[in-house]
Amino acid sequence: MESCLFCKIIAGEIPSRKVYEDEHTFAFEDIDPKAPTHVLVVPKKHIEGLNTAAGNEAEIVGRCHLTAAKIARERQIEDGYRTVLNVGPKSGQSVFHLHVHLLGGRDLRWPPG
Ligand code: AMP
Ligand code: ZN
Repeated sequence: MESCLFCKIIAGEIPSRKVYEDEHTFAFEDIDPKAPTHVLVVPKKHIEGLNTAAGNEAEIVGRCHLTAAKIARERQIEDGYRTVLNVGPKSGQSVFHLHVHLLGGRDLRWPPG
């Protein structure tokens, strides 16, 4: 999608600090980190958000989470990390290309607020 910030990051048209890439997913450092590890994992295919994901996109939503788990393993933060999908404006979703936040490397409070 031409106007989408994360599509532009995936295409390399906007710079990012890339963490990981495979056939289906792309991961990069959040520009405004909320934890020592704050990585965004996105599908290469443009999907607006969890609320618009279709049944045939179940696999890619799962793949994004497994990419997050792989990064967490590599960073040795498996003693406690969180994956978050903000869905809709009231949740704070500001970029409408589905993204999994991977947060870790510090104590995480519950509920998140
Ligand atoms: P959300 O609020 O769930 O939509 O998350 C969007 C995230 O994208 C926020 O945590 C922002 O800090 C992050 N973000 C916005 N622009 C960029 C960018 N150019 N590079 C990396 N992360 C970004
Ligand atoms: Zn996009």
